[in-house]
Amino acid sequence: MARRPLMAGNWKMFKTVSESVDLVKKLKDSLSGVKDRDALVCPPFTALAAVSEVLKGSAVTLGAQNMNDNVQGAFTGEISPAMLKDAGCAYVILGHSERRQYYFETDALVNKKCKLALEQGLTPIVCVGEQLAEREAGRTFPVVESQVKGSLGGLTPEQAGKVVVAYEPVWAIGTGKTATPDQAQEVHAFVRDWIGRLFGSSIADGMRILYGGSVKPDNIDSLMAQKDIDGGLVGGASLKAEDFTRIVKFLS
Ligand code: PEP
Repeated sequence: MARRPLMAGNWKMFKTVSESVDLVKKLKDSLSGVKDRDALVCPPFTALAAVSEVLKGSAVTLGAQNMNDNVQGAFTGEISPAMLKDAGCAYVILGHSERRQYYFETDALVNKKCKLALEQGLTPIVCVGEQLAEREAGRTFPVVESQVKGSLGGLTPEQAGKVVVAYEPVWAIGTGKTATPDQAQEVHAFVRDWIGRLFGSSIADGMRILYGGSVKPDNIDSLMAQKDIDGGLVGGASLKAEDFTRIVKFLS
């Protein structure tokens, strides 16, 4: 099955509102002719509404970097899925390795957030990936398997069909070290195989699996040439309009 490529920019904790608006205005222009692939930006919460306003009428879509696992309530400092929708988001990144590492997010929490995001009409981008020590110990596959099962367990096939998975080897995030296309492809194929076992082969065939970890203009083409890589989750390079544009326009 031909899967529509998706390039998602994770801006992390960078950009004020005015800086965000500047960047997204440039992207709106530079990506205006792009029709055969999806481009997504995930700015910080404070800039979502302003960026959404700029993106009106554009093919670039909006997402958030995290959300709370409750519908609403007394959760000081948190953001609900309905608030993200209200601000114009269609997607939400869940279980990014920085959330798992610094804010102790577990597969169980990511699973709860994933179900809630789907119930509330947001498309989750669920992140998985091994740490360097795990790769060096030959444990990449069992680690990724347990993250996939733990984060997506209990979803119906119909729900799973709406999820995007991002494979992000933790040792490649923000380090300038990219997984080789072969290393990434191997894990993507493994994730797709597990999706098939859990939800059936047509869900696996249709699922978009993004690669993340130091994606740059000069490595995106070789990554996207791999059979099971359907897009990128891009951190640092998504902060520069020129670089992100080139990444979205891979192989063209
Ligand atoms: C990320 O933010 O998910 C990421 C992969 O960052 P970078 O592209 O900077 O490695």
